[in-house]
Amino acid sequence: MRRARVTALREAVGKADLDALLVTSLPNIRYLTGFSGSSALLAVSARDCVLLTDFRYATQVEEEVGAAATVRIEPSNLWAGLWPLLTSWSGVERVGFESAHLLHRDFTRLLEQGARWQWRPTVDQVETLRAIKDDSEVACIERAIVVAETALQRTLDALHPGLTETAVAGILERHLRECGSEAFAFPTIVASGPRSALPHARAADRLLQRGDLVLIDFGAVVDGYCSDITRTVVLGPATARQREIHGIVAEANAAASGAIRVGMTGMAADAVAREYIDARGHGAAFGHSLGHGIGLEVHEAPRLARTVEAPLAAGMVVTVEPGIYLPDWGGVRIEDDVLLTASGPRVLTGFPRTLLELS
Ligand code: ZN
Ligand code: ZN
Repeated sequence: MRRARVTALREAVGKADLDALLVTSLPNIRYLTGFSGSSALLAVSARDCVLLTDFRYATQVEEEVGAAATVRIEPSNLWAGLWPLLTSWSGVERVGFESAHLLHRDFTRLLEQGARWQWRPTVDQVETLRAIKDDSEVACIERAIVVAETALQRTLDALHPGLTETAVAGILERHLRECGSEAFAFPTIVASGPRSALPHARAADRLLQRGDLVLIDFGAVVDGYCSDITRTVVLGPATARQREIHGIVAEANAAASGAIRVGMTGMAADAVAREYIDARGHGAAFGHSLGHGIGLEVHEAPRLARTVEAPLAAGMVVTVEPGIYLPDWGGVRIEDDVLLTASGPRVLTGFPRTLLELS
């Protein structure tokens, strides 16, 4: 499977009129080789695929990479190993680098120590491949969703007035770990009362109060793959206004999740939810885009946003996360993870989307 990914990358590199590609993004390296360590360079030519890492990973890299790449353990500096490697590759002149993932310090190395090659910036060579998930990747995401939903249910069972948002995040993150999450997809967002109107609030020391909207946005990580889920609940009986706003967001979520199709643009997908919310008078309160791809990173290609004209493809897993944020009152977001298949969208998240009123 990983060999097929490298083969697909070689094709893309050839089409870009390059002889080789230097991959410096760790998630991209993990996707291509399976290596999950924090120090690596990967060089891919038409013939070779060589992973450079250091002594700390000697055992791990053999286990994870197998036949997907030739592994070299560099005793000092990975870059010191790159030049003799490239020199040994005859006919390699034009080498691409990942312009979004190379530090300026390392770019300077290319121009100085690597001056004998022609360095060309590339964009999204690996990310484009990563946007389409194979069955094994979808299975990892589904497991990360099950872990997240179990942890969320346990957290909601423990929610009560007087807890701080940070404490709630801690409870959730403990359950994520206990349920098998190897990390957190991102720092858990718990935003209560008026703070729920901040779309990307971090959990803070505010005390939960009866009557609060509580917005929880978080994700689990299983075998490197992320889930990303948001639910907004009420601590106690909901007011009519809370029901109304939650209902609009839930309907917008359902409309978008049910409508997104292979071949639709990111822009058109975004518009489904946006037009629904706009028609109910809250267009200005939905200030972010509808969603994003998830996978080895919690934000990756494709984007479902007003500016995206690229068509969606089968195998993409995207979030659908409309929201309404009313300053000084509060906010509601409902986020699901959706797989696009040739026969239509499949919503992978199953946690209830009705407004939960916690007693
Ligand atoms: Zn999220
Ligand atoms: Zn998200």
